Amino acid sequence: MVVGAGIAGLFIAEKLKRARIDFTVYEKAGEVGGTWRDNTYPGLFVDVLSRQYEFPFQPNYDWSRKYAPAPEIQAYIKKVADDRDLRKYIRFNEEIAEARFADGRWHVKTAKGATDVADVFIAATGFLSKPLYPEIEGRETFAGPAFHSARWDHSVPYKGKRWGIIGAGCSGIQITEALAWEGAEVTQFVRRPQWIHIRENPQPSWLHRMWLRMPFAYRLEQRKLWKMISVMDRWRLQPGPQREAMQREYARYLDVIADPGLKKKLTPEFHLGCTRIPKSDQNYYQAVQLPNVHIESRGISRIVPNGVVLADGTLAELDVLVYATGFDAHAYMRPMKIAGLNGTTIDEVWKERIYSYGGIALPGFPNLFMLYGPFSPVNNVPVPIGLDQEIAYIMQLIKLARDRRVAIAPTAEATQKFLARLDAAFPGTVWVGCRNWYADQSGTPILWPLPQDEHKEFFARIATEDLEFFPVGQREGSAAAA
Ligand SMILES: Cc1cc2nc3c(=O)[nH]c(=O)nc-3n(C[C@H](O)[C@H](O)[C@H](O)COP(=O)(O)OP(=O)(O)OC[C@H]3O[C@@H](n4cnc5c(N)ncnc54)[C@H](O)[C@@H]3O)c2cc1C
Repeated sequence: MVVGAGIAGLFIAEKLKRARIDFTVYEKAGEVGGTWRDNTYPGLFVDVLSRQYEFPFQPNYDWSRKYAPAPEIQAYIKKVADDRDLRKYIRFNEEIAEARFADGRWHVKTAKGATDVADVFIAATGFLSKPLYPEIEGRETFAGPAFHSARWDHSVPYKGKRWGIIGAGCSGIQITEALAWEGAEVTQFVRRPQWIHIRENPQPSWLHRMWLRMPFAYRLEQRKLWKMISVMDRWRLQPGPQREAMQREYARYLDVIADPGLKKKLTPEFHLGCTRIPKSDQNYYQAVQLPNVHIESRGISRIVPNGVVLADGTLAELDVLVYATGFDAHAYMRPMKIAGLNGTTIDEVWKERIYSYGGIALPGFPNLFMLYGPFSPVNNVPVPIGLDQEIAYIMQLIKLARDRRVAIAPTAEATQKFLARLDAAFPGTVWVGCRNWYADQSGTPILWPLPQDEHKEFFARIATEDLEFFPVGQREGSAAAA
């Protein structure tokens, strides 16, 4: 059983289908796509090369841009579901509310009260899918349209409205920039300015698109991209001249701002890479100098029916309010209630610290696999590439479980060893020494702090010594279902 039909759920669905394993995908929404279904705000583009955001089994030679606009990514995901005939495995509008491991199998209950049973439980529930709203006094009193960036209200016209955007992360930057160039009156509330990558977003040439279609060319190009990632990523892992040169380059982007006061407001006070770097395709720093754009850094004291009251008591009058305030990145499978061996729950084991073995499994939770769970390379590689490595490994574990008629979980010792290896690697990476959404309650960033080649190596071979096997007995029909 797979929970979630975003790119992770569809990716593993295709692999399960090919392996002729009986499975069902439960999706709480009415369409595939996850992130790309839910985020339809203006200005959203994929922040990695479009060509790196492909399922490896379905190349797309026709991206309109080097970094594709979000609707194109969503159209591609839907096409994959159709071309691969994956929809017939998906139960839409069915949210899994509970999952419990008992008698060697996973027993689940949906929010509507239906039940199901599976040998293998795969959580493809995403890490940026639960919108987070700010705790600001008076939020519910705002009289005009007010919505989260992941729940965009397309009935509101851009022009003729005074827009307020709360947040200066990736979404806040992209929305402000897009509304600014559309000529909307927009105020962005910036509490903590970010480093922003100002980049070009050209159309791929006709020649290059033709070249990709040549036999072997695609694979050759993808291999080149992988090499580029594994070398380019090093600046995040160790201090040194590469990191310093990048920080200087990003500081130079700010030089297009003529007003020193505005420049100061938008200059970050922490080092480059600490937070996920917003990407700007239409030069945010030029957009914020348009007469219809205002950057407000005084801090919000409360929300009132006609706007936002700032820390010094000034009222910023608004017609529309957008919460570009991010996601609960530490929820993972939750709010699903999940109980493993002896009824131990996810909330109990993650109370002190969120952890996993390899980002994909947990001791005490046999045959439960996560896609892009804690310590996956969320900030290092495009998600489909990390998924490719995780899924190949999980498929091997499923085969092993079926062959041996067992349920598999990592041992507690192997998990400790894995965490100790990662903990030792964090000092010196860009993610420590400042505040970001990666850090868990213990302050540890929940991502992969080692070179990308080591992520690939980790999943290259099943380390059976790291695993515990739980007999599940002989059942009718023999073939285990995922
Ligand atoms: C605005 C935004 C921009 C991003 N841009 C990039 C980018 O440029 N590059 C990049 O690499 N990554 C980007 N990401 C990260 C992005 O989330 C991942 O790339 C990828 O889409 C995650 O896919 P997923 O399938 O793991 O999760 P999701 O896309 O979040 O899908 C999870 C699915 O599970 C379903 N679900 C959850 N819980 C349940 C349940 N209990 N029962 C049933 N169904 C459930 C959800 O409805 C959803 O459809 C971005 C994220 C956001 C929010």
